[in-house]
Amino acid sequence: MKLSEHFDSSEFVCKCCGKSITMSKLLIDRLEKMHSYMDAKAIYINSGYRCPNNQYGTKTDAHRLGLAADIRVQKQDGTYYTAQDIAEVAERIGFGGIGLMLPESCHVDTRDSEQYSNNHWFGNETTGENWIKTFQRGTVFPGEKVKVKKKITLIIDDHTYTGLLEEM
Ligand SMILES: [Zn+2]
Ligand SMILES: [Zn+2]
Repeated sequence: MKLSEHFDSSEFVCKCCGKSITMSKLLIDRLEKMHSYMDAKAIYINSGYRCPNNQYGTKTDAHRLGLAADIRVQKQDGTYYTAQDIAEVAERIGFGGIGLMLPESCHVDTRDSEQYSNNHWFGNETTGENWIKTFQRGTVFPGEKVKVKKKITLIIDDHTYTGLLEEM
């Protein structure tokens, strides 16, 4: 079943049994945002839903609740964004749970939702680091709307004022 412009429910089924549940709408919305922000060729779901029998799941796993996805993001030239790139954009878009994985893969989940008590986690699944403050490095991504600053000069009562006008 088509969930949004770029995602289908079949991509999110449990890898061990093919079962599925309804995925969080917020998750899908944010993945779509990420798609356009990074001007992605494709976002691949390595892992979406995990059933209670899935060996990779834990009791409190956001995957088990349909709130999480482990993703890879392909650029227009066919190469992949790094885990750091994905995490940086995920943080800007508002994901509450972000975990770096293999070099080109990242876990994202919508744990700021009411269903989840531990409402913030930025970590690195490959090192076990759990307290990363931020993934922001100031990277400019190709789908980002660029703000244009225009220099303006105003003369009022013989005083000259100059400043930058921001165009959205
Ligand atoms: Zn399963
Ligand atoms: Zn995950």
